[in-house]
Amino acid sequence: MDLIVTHVGADFDALASLAAAKKLYPKASVILPGSTDKDVREYLDKNSHLLELKQEKEVDFKKVKRLIVVDTRLAKRIGEAKEALNNPGLVLHFYDHHPRAKGDLFGTVDVGGYYGATTTILVELIKKKKIKISPEEATLFALGIYEDTGSFTFPSTTPSDLKAASFLLTRGANLNVVSDFIRRELTKKQVKLLDRLLRLEKRIKINGIETAIIKLKSPDYITDLAATVHRLRDIENLNSIFVLLETKGKIRIIARSRIKAVNVGKITQAFGGGGHATAASATIRGIGLKDVEKKLIKVLKTNVTSEITADGGLMDKRNLASILKNNLPSKIASLLAKAGRVAEQGRFRIYLVGGFVRDLLLGVRNFDVDLVVEGDGISFAQYLVKRLGGNVTAHKRFATAVATLPGGIKIDIASARKEFYEFPAALPAIEKSSLREDLYRRDFTINAMAVILNPGHFGELVDFFGGWKDLKQRTVKVLHKRSFVEDPTRIFRAIRFEGRYGFLMDKNTEQLALDALKMKILRRLSKERVREEIIAILSEPEPGNAILRMDKLGILNFIHAKIRLSQEMGKELRRVNAIFSRFASPLREEAVERWIVRFLILVQKLGISEVEKLCEDFRFSRKETNKIIRSEERLREIVRKLREPQLKPSSVYQTLKGLPVEGLLFTVLKARSRIVEKRVYQYLTRMRKVRIYTTGDKLKRMGYKAGPLFKRIMEELLRARLDGIVKSPSSETKFVFDNFPKD
Ligand code: ATP
Ligand code: MG
Repeated sequence: MDLIVTHVGADFDALASLAAAKKLYPKASVILPGSTDKDVREYLDKNSHLLELKQEKEVDFKKVKRLIVVDTRLAKRIGEAKEALNNPGLVLHFYDHHPRAKGDLFGTVDVGGYYGATTTILVELIKKKKIKISPEEATLFALGIYEDTGSFTFPSTTPSDLKAASFLLTRGANLNVVSDFIRRELTKKQVKLLDRLLRLEKRIKINGIETAIIKLKSPDYITDLAATVHRLRDIENLNSIFVLLETKGKIRIIARSRIKAVNVGKITQAFGGGGHATAASATIRGIGLKDVEKKLIKVLKTNVTSEITADGGLMDKRNLASILKNNLPSKIASLLAKAGRVAEQGRFRIYLVGGFVRDLLLGVRNFDVDLVVEGDGISFAQYLVKRLGGNVTAHKRFATAVATLPGGIKIDIASARKEFYEFPAALPAIEKSSLREDLYRRDFTINAMAVILNPGHFGELVDFFGGWKDLKQRTVKVLHKRSFVEDPTRIFRAIRFEGRYGFLMDKNTEQLALDALKMKILRRLSKERVREEIIAILSEPEPGNAILRMDKLGILNFIHAKIRLSQEMGKELRRVNAIFSRFASPLREEAVERWIVRFLILVQKLGISEVEKLCEDFRFSRKETNKIIRSEERLREIVRKLREPQLKPSSVYQTLKGLPVEGLLFTVLKARSRIVEKRVYQYLTRMRKVRIYTTGDKLKRMGYKAGPLFKRIMEELLRARLDGIVKSPSSETKFVFDNFPKD
């Protein structure tokens, strides 16, 4: 047997080399030993179909006759495949760009030399042998080369690497994928810039499509702007973004988009610039920032190709096909079309349903694809992944399934009984079908519409209950009068949708909600469910109005009798998002929960033991409870301390250490003081990452005895380090000897 292997902790160069080697040794098995880089894992989760990988434990290493090793020559780095090295008569082939070093093995084939990446070596061979590669393979190989050459900026980069990359581009390598996965740490300058951009970002809606616009002035040209805008797009998950930068009397527009509806190439042409549909720029002289923005908005209005009219009205309901094609990220758009074709071939009839349809009509981003299948949803899910790749998790009891497709898109698939087979169906035929029943069981008319995906009828809206009209009239309306009694969580949902979209319940629905609340209907729900609904509301982008509404309907007092919503609290709630924006860059890699900060605002007047009991009653997780309690507990003391004018960094550190990030942000919010905010910011960006050089081992070597003294020395050292008293390993050693004399 032939086996291809690389080193443990594979990076993209290692992974790409595995895949490239497989092209040269098509009969070989491939393993990825041990653990891998996080980004590589993520890539593999989405692209498992590209490379058939075996687990180490599936391989009988005794049977390996030829071992092909890429990106290393060290026996100890190839994981369990090392066992094969003892096989009698084993043939070894190496492909590795690392300079030969002590301990390296030798192979009968042994290719190396000056290359920035091992992938380059293998791509040269693939090219020489005229082996065909797919665009996806080309993309993976490019990833390997880009990564190991630092996008061709490392000094180890060679002309061969550039040539290989250029060859891969001709084979369809997709650089968008490459840049998505090569996450180079932002430089300090970029972090600052990102921070600034986040603060200035403004969202506007044009023809129903959300776009971000950022205006800024800078005395000098900003070199990293384009790269940072790209990052911003990813962090904020934006569909399209325009940055207008004024420098020395010139204005530069940098535009990025990932949806067809916003073609930035065309839009920048109006300013004498240009580029691609997805990335473009323009330079303008002689007019000010404000005027450029005005003109941009005008151009956008005529160029953004949504079917939704500017006055917030909805598009023609017979014409959803073009919205499906143009207003969704192309990945999802093409997936939906494909799913429809596959369904047709398998004789299934499938519909998009629920929140996805609602948000599609509103022009709001929503990538939770919900499908209903007439017939058996699980069989359709299985059929779909058989055709498109991916995998299925089925829930037999509910006849539902989740299909995870290549590219990582997940779709929820439910079943509706199949009663009518004639297709294409005129509306009356559908009307009798079980789709109607499925939709009738839903919460509100705006959530009870469906869109046919089968070709021939692709994009047709199925709207039995007037959802389209209610969307237009901005109304949340139940489907029947027992709705809230059947499921009281719908009261929370109604409030959430009202708040999110600025809708209102119609008179009748509101009355039904009031009646149900009068019946103390919420008591019928388990506390856990109430908790989940509250968290959902507090997690909305702007929950202010929904919280107000909960207060009016007495729901806040159902949570706790002592919660009183004051004007001050209203203001605080409104400030939460601004604070999160200001702290976006130090916190960009962390999961910080906005709802906790909002919850802290709501319960701030309660005593600690009351908050504790509340958390217990509603079964908050231990982690959540801890965060909440620890944040409330020491708030006042912390704010007071952080206001002291002269405070050493080590004291700031001591005060904030161990506090949950949500609590830190709550502190900033309550303090309303520049100095407090600055100190928390410094703590998050710098102080909490400070480490000392000295280790326990080193202290032993310095002649100290292990014990409680060690801890004290370490703490003192950290303090000294924070305060800049020690800066290097040697100054740490001196500090220890000076301050802890041995007797
Ligand atoms: P969101 O954007 O918050 O996810 P959503 O409408 O998609 O809103 P989900 O909880 O994802 O809400 O539910 C998907 C769909 O399932 C809804 O659009 C609705 O049709 C239906 N649904 C969800 N919860 C209920 C409920 N409690 N009662 C009836 N139908 C519901
Ligand atoms: Mg949803």
